[in-house]
Amino acid sequence: MSSETNLPIPAADLRPQNYQLRTQLVAAVESVLERGQFILGPNVHAFEHEVADYLGVAQAIGVNSGTDALILALRALEIGAGDEVITTPFTFFATAEAISAVGADPVFVDIDPNTFVVEPEAVAAAITDRTRALIPVHLYGHAAPMNELAAIAEPHGLALIEDAAQSFGGRLDGRRLGTLGHVGALSFFPSKNLGGFGDGGMVTTDDAELAERVRWLRTHGSKRKYQNEMIGYNTRLDEVQAAMLRVKLPHVDVWNKDRQRVAQHYDHHLRDVKGVITPRTLPDVEHVFHQYTVRIASGDRDLVARKLREHNIGTMVYYPVPVHRLPVYATVGASLPMAEKAAGEVLSLPMFPHMTEREVELVAQGIKTCLR
Ligand SMILES: *Cc1c(COP(=O)(O)O)cnc(C)c1O
Repeated sequence: MSSETNLPIPAADLRPQNYQLRTQLVAAVESVLERGQFILGPNVHAFEHEVADYLGVAQAIGVNSGTDALILALRALEIGAGDEVITTPFTFFATAEAISAVGADPVFVDIDPNTFVVEPEAVAAAITDRTRALIPVHLYGHAAPMNELAAIAEPHGLALIEDAAQSFGGRLDGRRLGTLGHVGALSFFPSKNLGGFGDGGMVTTDDAELAERVRWLRTHGSKRKYQNEMIGYNTRLDEVQAAMLRVKLPHVDVWNKDRQRVAQHYDHHLRDVKGVITPRTLPDVEHVFHQYTVRIASGDRDLVARKLREHNIGTMVYYPVPVHRLPVYATVGASLPMAEKAAGEVLSLPMFPHMTEREVELVAQGIKTCLR
């Protein structure tokens, strides 16, 4: 291989977007220092409105992380001990962790092997008289089947909570993800499609009462200062984070378009590579490619990852162990073959908005060499 292939291609590189906006980002931080208001100041307020407008939802409440957004959504819906919440095992741990953190029991059901999101028929089959909510995850930036899930949830009176941590800006039927259920949870973890400079998250909903309860919960369960009415949390989006995220929000559509362009290049360069299954996007879905995740079906996934690493190409496995197989959920004892198979085959290739077609080609060449 030519020496060019030794140029490092990281799994993700967000420095270009931060350089691009550096002057504005620094100015945003300085303005917060100048004002001296660091908790629930004007930037949090403005950012909440800007995200609500962007998504097309009535209410957005800034919190400390995506994980806390899920916890507050569940608490605001008064879901807790004795309740079951149906979710996917093929997700980041936080989805299930939030359910357990409020005292409820996660019930894991299998995934659609083509899109890696939860399978509606499996959800329907798992409903019991203890089920209170569903938490689908728009994994890798691809929408979960919200229409089918809403049809299942409604007759049972179940809440539909979207884990939209990986899908900021994505759409289903032209509507933004995070606005399709009763409540949505967003994450601004630095590597997410809209990433901050530390932890951050947001709860979205059209339900004004639910939004009010989330606002109380994020400030120690107090409607008014020192009049605490429930056991809450200290989980606010920081003013500095909000000020910096406001600089980035107007650019997120362009960055998502760039991710889609990178995905098209991958589709093209991997099209005829035997042993590689490229990601499917269902009609009516606008995929925002938080990850571009292929399957290496031959049992060679770890070999491919290792070889690429030798060529300084970074890849990631999201997720090597499905959540129901983690020791903390060992007692759940479910057997979910599609999720387990996926965990052994998935490989997320380098993906970031500023990635060039040449870099995509080098990754594809590297994979071809391994599978030859
Ligand atoms: C990142 C992520 C979360 C948690 O978000 P944090 O902001 O890191 O707490 C939850 N669910 C999914 C699917 C995620 O990818």
